[in-house]
Parts: sequence; C-alpha cells; structure tokens
Amino acid sequence: MADGPAAAGPPGARLRLGDVQRVDFGDILTPQDWPGGAGRPLPVHGFVIRHPAGAILVDTGVGDPRARDFVREWRPVARGVADALAPLDLAPADVRWVINTHLHWDHCGQNAVFTHAPFVIQRREYETAAARPGVVMEWFQVSGARFELVDGAAEVAPGVRVLPTPGHTAGHQAVVVSTDQGLVVLAGDAADSIRAYRDADPTQGAEPEDSDQWRASVAALRALRPARVCVCHDPVEWRAG
Ligand SMILES: [Zn+2]
Repeated sequence: MADGPAAAGPPGARLRLGDVQRVDFGDILTPQDWPGGAGRPLPVHGFVIRHPAGAILVDTGVGDPRARDFVREWRPVARGVADALAPLDLAPADVRWVINTHLHWDHCGQNAVFTHAPFVIQRREYETAAARPGVVMEWFQVSGARFELVDGAAEVAPGVRVLPTPGHTAGHQAVVVSTDQGLVVLAGDAADSIRAYRDADPTQGAEPEDSDQWRASVAALRALRPARVCVCHDPVEWRAG
C-alpha cells in the first residue's frame, strides 16, 4: 500500500460510479438518546468497491447479537455478510481488502469471515480499541488475521484512498473513491445521517467522542467537493448539484 494523495489513480484504473455499491447488513434499533427517539429501525450499511484489482469491502456489519448484552440492547436484525454480499453476486472469498471505517461493533462485527483479506485500519483506531479489551478485540482474535495499520491518508488501491476523519471515534477514517463521475465519499459514521453531513450538525446522530474534531472532519470531506456522499446509517445519499 502506497502513501500519498493518488486521488485519481493511474490512467486506466479509473472506476465507474456503478463500481461503488451499497451492502445491506440489516437494521439495529435506535437507543434511548438517539435524536427522534428510541426503538426506530436504523439501517446498517457497508459498501463494496468493485476494483479491477479485487473487491474492497468497507465495513463488515453487525457482530453476533448473542455475543454481549450491549449488542443485544440494540436488538439487531442483522444479516450475515455472505447473505449481504449475495445480491451483488459476490462471496466473501471475492473480497481482497477489508477497510474498517472504525471499530464499533456494527462496523467490524464480521471481520472474522475475512481471514484471507487484510484489514485496513487507522493505527490510532486499532490502538484505542486494543486498550479497551472487549468483544471487538475478541472478534479480532482470529488466526491468520492480517492488519494493515495506517497513519493518516493512504492509498489502498489505485483510485481508492482512506482519509482520517476523527470525531465519531479518535481513529475514524472515510474512504474516497475516484470515479468517472467525480469523487464518491464513503463517510462511515463521520456523519450518522446525510442531514448531519449536509447541515454539518453533529447533533443529528450519536454524540461524537469529540465534536470539534467531528466538525473539522465533515468540513474536510465537504472541501473535497465530492459528487456523492454515502454514510453507513442512512439509505439516502448526498449528491452534488
Ligand atoms: Zn455505526
């Protein structure tokens, strides 16, 4: 993996807009402190980038709902990652890289399926999670798991890069894809909803770990002038123009 800005990638590697596809991992229910109230279905989405070098999966969905009480509290109606990929005619074995936007249980819950693929994670996010032993790190105790820990912006494959977007968590990262119709930003939970992104309003979702960093990260994503922005918990996407 090469560091550097490489937003466009080399000629010929440019992806089409349709190469970025949404993966439906099912719903969780909003907790008590969610804007708009508790008990409402909240979609959990990942994304696949169908890159010529191999499929890139952004986030792996909800972990085993029986694993811990805190997962059970959200009563996920979760979908296994193989079932979630099947409508896209993909199988887990087709995934060459896994990018985790961050290490919350609804974004890395099924990493253990992908022992054949490296997990691209910001080093800061990994070290923060590792300092808090719990279910997430247990999910990572899979034999053969490979981590590609990155510090800051990095290119994963030509035309696909990760960008640090702290705020929701300290080591959160977004994924920026250069396509024939402009940049597509897969923002993860850098914003919980498209409304939060559009209005740069951190109160439109779960409270960030750091609101100032959250605002700076959303501003940085907006400054990219993306053609499209997708977030993990909103089926609506933002489009330029
Ligand atoms: Zn989330």
